[in-house]
Amino acid sequence: MKRLNFTLDNNTVSLLNKLSEKYYGGNKSQTVRAALESLAARQGHDGWIITGYTPLRIDHEVNCHTCGSEHNEGNILFKPVFEKGNSPQAIKQIPSEEWVECSVCVEKQ
Ligand SMILES: [Zn+2]
Repeated sequence: MKRLNFTLDNNTVSLLNKLSEKYYGGNKSQTVRAALESLAARQGHDGWIITGYTPLRIDHEVNCHTCGSEHNEGNILFKPVFEKGNSPQAIKQIPSEEWVECSVCVEKQ
C-alpha cells in the first residue's frame, strides 16, 4: 500500500464523495480503485505488445506481415518479441500464424 497525494477539482471531489458513500461505505480509496479498474477494462488495452524484434534467417518464402512484400529463402527478416502489457497497440492474442517483418517495416515502428 502506498499513500498518494493528488489534486481534484470540487466537482470531482463531490462526485467521489457521492460514489464512495453510495457504493463503498465512504471508502474513497476503494472507490478510486474501482473507478480505475473499470476504466482499464473499458479501454480493453491489456494484452500483448511488441517490445522488440529478433533477426531470423528464413528458410522458406514468406510475406512481410505489415507490407506484404515477398522474401525468398535466405533473407533476414525480423520476428516480433511479445510481452504482456498495456498499450493502445496491444493485441488480445499472439497470432498463431507466422509473423515476420521486413527491415523497412521494423524501422518504421
Ligand atoms: Zn514490410
